[in-house]
Amino acid sequence: MTHIAHWIGGAERAGTSGRVGPVFNPATGEQTAEVGLASAAEVGEAVAVAKEAARAWRSASLSKRSAVLFTFRELLAGRAGELAAIITAEHGKVLADAAGEVARGLENVEFATGIPHLMKGSFSEQAATGVDVYSIRQPLGVVAGITPFNFPAMVPLWMCATAIAAGNAFVLKPSEKDPSAALWLARLWAEAGLPDGVFTVLNGDKEAVDALLTHPDVAAVSFVGSTPIAKYIYETGTAHGKRVQALGGAKNHMIVLPDAELDAAADAAISAGYGAAGERCMAISVVVAVGDIADPLVEAIAARLPKIRIGNGADQDVDMGPLISAQHRDKVAGYIAAGASEGATVVADGRELSGKRGFFLGATLLDNVTPSMTVYTDEIFGPVLSVVRVGTYAEAVELVNSNEYGNGTAIFTRDGGAARQFQFDVDAGMVGVNVPIPVPVAYYSFGGWKASLFGDSHMYGPDGIQFYTRGKVVTSRWPDPGTSAIDLGFPQTR
Ligand code: NAD
Repeated sequence: MTHIAHWIGGAERAGTSGRVGPVFNPATGEQTAEVGLASAAEVGEAVAVAKEAARAWRSASLSKRSAVLFTFRELLAGRAGELAAIITAEHGKVLADAAGEVARGLENVEFATGIPHLMKGSFSEQAATGVDVYSIRQPLGVVAGITPFNFPAMVPLWMCATAIAAGNAFVLKPSEKDPSAALWLARLWAEAGLPDGVFTVLNGDKEAVDALLTHPDVAAVSFVGSTPIAKYIYETGTAHGKRVQALGGAKNHMIVLPDAELDAAADAAISAGYGAAGERCMAISVVVAVGDIADPLVEAIAARLPKIRIGNGADQDVDMGPLISAQHRDKVAGYIAAGASEGATVVADGRELSGKRGFFLGATLLDNVTPSMTVYTDEIFGPVLSVVRVGTYAEAVELVNSNEYGNGTAIFTRDGGAARQFQFDVDAGMVGVNVPIPVPVAYYSFGGWKASLFGDSHMYGPDGIQFYTRGKVVTSRWPDPGTSAIDLGFPQTR
């Protein structure tokens, strides 16, 4: 049995807690490894190493830091396939999708290579007579990232590229369900010349997370995961004086107006609903069909379902892999049963696939879903697409805005005016116009609204730079010593 260790001080370190968790290949259902689950004492040791490393790293010149990022970028781009295979083996998503995840993570590294430009402050000459004022941004010290199972490489890269480039030491607590990608990234950082201790991987569960959230030397916590845990992370981290950005779950609606291009909308619903078996925070889980497009749209989506090839993501010619675990598959199947008993029309039932080796569930389509059904209210995080039928655009927007979550949303239409109005009206952090998964490019920032984000900072891009640095303003004067005088009045600028 392979043992997956931690990465501390630039080397692998076997856990000492005596606690381990199982890691599976979801396509076969077999346990492939065990991962060490760090104790609070191990967290303490790792943070001490990171703190020491952070001191030296913040003194490294911007060009030196940028050079490490460039080297890391080259290594990652050159070996992306290796990482994609690791992701597929533990997460289950198909290889092409895993490669897509790596490519989107790579964008964040590319953004961070521009750190000399991104760290620039501002300068006001002669703010008062003989006085200049300027601002600088400095790193925070040790920052932690706690990440979900569904993007074991991309989400850590959202965080660590910017945090490290800004001069912090970064401690990653990846999901215990698919931890190998994090260790692979750690080795790559070392190969790229990052000093020991600047990037740490602490595998673990709640015990490690709680130790990070309460550790006095952890200055900031970035979290991505489910909403109840995001809320807990935000409340606990801020109660312990930390800066926290905590991204939570989602229920993303795709509105299809009557004038939409039908085939394009159906293709988009299939791609965004069933890609990665629906285990994406930006997956479309609700199609809102407006007016008389509903019947042809449901028909068009249903007609495409048999074309989705389900199997081991490591094999060629597969479109959709398994779910992450047997428990999660059973939970999602339970939602399908609940939807049927609450009155939804089951157009396609993924449970028919059960019996296959591995944690598989087929693509499921539920029509005539209403806002009171649990398939609508809850984040299912599986290959289940619900169709809600409404009469007007106004009802569609009201539905989205009344929903607890506000991560992403999309509108499909040929009417530019309607799309612009939607962008104005809708309460969500990321909006797609004829784009079903509007994950922002790396030079914008990623984040939802409402229960999809706790804190006020979105992740990566410009918000990432702000989050991982703090501002300092310097007021400076170089007077002629002969002009010095005592003045007890409050300093004025004129
Ligand atoms: P999760 O909340 O179960 O776990 C996320 C992280 O929190 C993991 O590292 C886990 O070890 C840790 N954790 C779990 N329970 C904990 C507890 N009680 N105390 C402390 N730490 C705990 O999420 P997941 O199942 O790994 O990922 C799926 C969820 O993540 C979905 O809800 C999805 O929408 C969300 N997600 C959101 C985004 C986004 O950008 N908003 C992106 C990806 C995933």
